Amino acid sequence: MKRILLILVILLLPIPLLAFDFTLHKQQGSEAGPTLLIVGGIQGDEPGGFNAAALLATRYQIKKGSLWIVPNLNFHSILERSRGLHGDMNRKFDSLPKTDPEFHQVVRIKKIINDAQVDLVFNLHDGSGFYRMETIDHLHSPDRWGQSCVIDQQELSGHKFGNLAELSEKTIERVNAAALSTQHHFRLKNTKTAAGDDEMQQTLTYYAIRNNKPAFGIEASKSFPTHIRAYYHLLAMEAYMEQAGVDFSRDFPLTPEGIEQALKENILVSFGNGRIKLELNNLRQTLNYFPLPKDASLGFSSNNPLVAILLHRDRYQIYYGNNRLSFLKPQYFDYDDSLEKIDILIDGVEKPIKFGSTVPVDRDFLVRGKKGYRVNVIGFKKPGGGNESDLTIGEQQIIDRFSIDNNGKIFRVEVYRDKRFSGMVLVDFGEKLEKKEPLVSQAALLEKTSRQN
Ligand SMILES: [Zn+2]
Repeated sequence: MKRILLILVILLLPIPLLAFDFTLHKQQGSEAGPTLLIVGGIQGDEPGGFNAAALLATRYQIKKGSLWIVPNLNFHSILERSRGLHGDMNRKFDSLPKTDPEFHQVVRIKKIINDAQVDLVFNLHDGSGFYRMETIDHLHSPDRWGQSCVIDQQELSGHKFGNLAELSEKTIERVNAAALSTQHHFRLKNTKTAAGDDEMQQTLTYYAIRNNKPAFGIEASKSFPTHIRAYYHLLAMEAYMEQAGVDFSRDFPLTPEGIEQALKENILVSFGNGRIKLELNNLRQTLNYFPLPKDASLGFSSNNPLVAILLHRDRYQIYYGNNRLSFLKPQYFDYDDSLEKIDILIDGVEKPIKFGSTVPVDRDFLVRGKKGYRVNVIGFKKPGGGNESDLTIGEQQIIDRFSIDNNGKIFRVEVYRDKRFSGMVLVDFGEKLEKKEPLVSQAALLEKTSRQN
């Protein structure tokens, strides 16, 4: 394992978390209804599942019933692009020695599964190839997992939602009606776990079954790029939600394009308790002299549960799931909290602008001087140096390569009080011009011959 230190705090759950710990996001509808527990990322190399779970946690609105979502169960392995840094976590639910590095996480998720409020459990996977009852070829066979709903047994008798096969068959019908090709059709895979499948008896879903919780695995094929896998996961989850009686809406279209867009937009990271905010989409590979507090983990947050920053030697690296996005080369400052906003003339109109904001600019801007504070526009050089307040600055006067974005349009305006950093505003000259580049590069298409559940 690389010697890196994980630092993360989640905005939706604003308490300091243990390094590498997963997060639980509760989406509670106003009307009473069943609670579905949805788990993603039990294996770190299955981005379709954990990205779909992250969308359920951040882009769905629940009206009736509840979703409890753990989008990042094996977060450390996700960040390291590993199926399992400490072995396969989905084989740790039968017995596990206390010395196992993941003992704490497994105990914690078991407790959540057993919570009296949880009615149904879903584990989202990306599986190899395409499951078929008969062997057709290398990628289409009974040994494959992709494009299937997986159950451990036909039913869980005595439970309201115990008709595992029937619920899944209806889900499969719905998924296949919206499939992009007949080649993508889902099938039901019953592992008949109790009848002697030793390996499957150690899985999360079978643990749930043994504790009288109806449980389902969903497997999208690793033959597809991430957003297509997430498309099938969400189709399946919506079908299960509707059958269970969970009412919901979402703020993006359930299409491959809609999902691709949703996976890259509106993902923010914030430092210094909001004094700096960056949108991750299209961020430059390296941002230099970045004014961070001495311990950058303090006051770091994101609106997305798959975002983390890791200290790697002398640089912080921003991660979105298994994608390493940008390096921040820090210049450490004590932070000044005497000021919350600064007055800026934007295209001639004066407005108070809160630190952490991004403001669109058409022509030029001017930061009003304030006694005791110094303004630094990164990439702009005032002749003779010094405070850069009270100067009208247009895009041509700032050097492109100092932008925070790859298009050379978004620039840092930093305010200091003596040697302390007060806050940052971003000026965006490209708002109206360009459509931004994708954030999430498509995951490498992995094909492994091993069992992928
Ligand atoms: Zn898996």
